[in-house]
Amino acid sequence: MTGFQLEDDYALEVYPRRAINIVRGQDASLWDDKGNEYLDCAAGVGVANVGHANMAVAEALARQAKTLITCPGILYNDQRGRLMQKLVELSPSGLNRVFLCNSGTESVEAAIKFAHKTSGRTGLVAAMRGFHGRTLGALSATFKYRDAFEPLLPDCAFVPLNNIDKLKKAVNETTAAVILEIVQGEGGVRLVEADYLAAARRFCDEQGALLIIDEVQTGFCRTGTLFACERFDLEPDMLCLAKGIAGGVPMGAVLCTDRVQAGIGVHGSTFGGNPLACAAALAAIDFMLDHDLAASARDKGKYFLDRFSGKLPARVREVRQVGLMIGIELKEKATPYLKALLQRRVLALPAGPTVIRLLPPLVITTDQLDAVVEALHAVLSD
Ligand SMILES: *Cc1c(COP(=O)(O)O)cnc(C)c1O
Repeated sequence: MTGFQLEDDYALEVYPRRAINIVRGQDASLWDDKGNEYLDCAAGVGVANVGHANMAVAEALARQAKTLITCPGILYNDQRGRLMQKLVELSPSGLNRVFLCNSGTESVEAAIKFAHKTSGRTGLVAAMRGFHGRTLGALSATFKYRDAFEPLLPDCAFVPLNNIDKLKKAVNETTAAVILEIVQGEGGVRLVEADYLAAARRFCDEQGALLIIDEVQTGFCRTGTLFACERFDLEPDMLCLAKGIAGGVPMGAVLCTDRVQAGIGVHGSTFGGNPLACAAALAAIDFMLDHDLAASARDKGKYFLDRFSGKLPARVREVRQVGLMIGIELKEKATPYLKALLQRRVLALPAGPTVIRLLPPLVITTDQLDAVVEALHAVLSD
């Protein structure tokens, strides 16, 4: 039986699927079961930053799998300790403590709980169009996908991104935390403004609330710096990480300042901080640093923008690019163009109804980017 039949017969439907059975990857390429090659501008939704089948990650995984895969949080582990140290050393100053989990939504879920525990309050302020995950807590701070699941956490207010006055009105003495992305990913590749972030920091300090920055998608060199908040000199109280952290292996993390309190028994995770994922993360992060993938994202993002914008199709309303996080906003629905791209063997993502989102592995070559630009021009000018 083919992968199609098997999944059609057995999977609970939650995704709109394309009829392609992907069986292998290498760097920024994917292959289907018929041997067709695809240029991957999805990277597993911003996960495979170091490229598919990355040898450094594969070898670290193989080594660790033969050594120790699991180790409960009540015991110490060498890989886990080294990863925590590395994350603290590389992250914005003040973030001194790490909680490890297994996904982006889990990192947000943990951050919300830590914010409640630290502040003794329950209010959340989040941005319209923001995305923070799909578990019930993280979904409460997410703008879309929520209607079928009400009631969620009761005290979550949504404010328009980059409107300082509205933010000021929303943050008060009941606010546990303000949660923001630096570049909204699912929401359409929209960059937060420096003044707005500074205001968010100030309002949180004035009201005794915590500032949670969700870098699940923007972290690990995607936007041209290791963490996107580096470009703003921002010191959040918590930083949520996942997606690219471990080269494709499931992992999430919350980095916290000393102010953030959890306490024994408050939270936990069976798989969180397992030695296998930690070894993969150590290898992936070393690869990013050794190959300066932050500079790659900066340079290649600019390269793409220059090439693509040189001959901007009339259907395009705007291109938003931060490193290799690229949103092409159309004047019409994006889905037909995503399908047409797939026929030209370019895999891209939506971000809201009218935005084509590109999140290629950061190891994508300029030749491959030329091919992506060519396919985009062909499809969008048709
Ligand atoms: C993807 C994403 C999440 C959720 O991560 P999962 O690993 O899918 O649970 C949370 N926040 C942001 C900003 C994301 O892009």
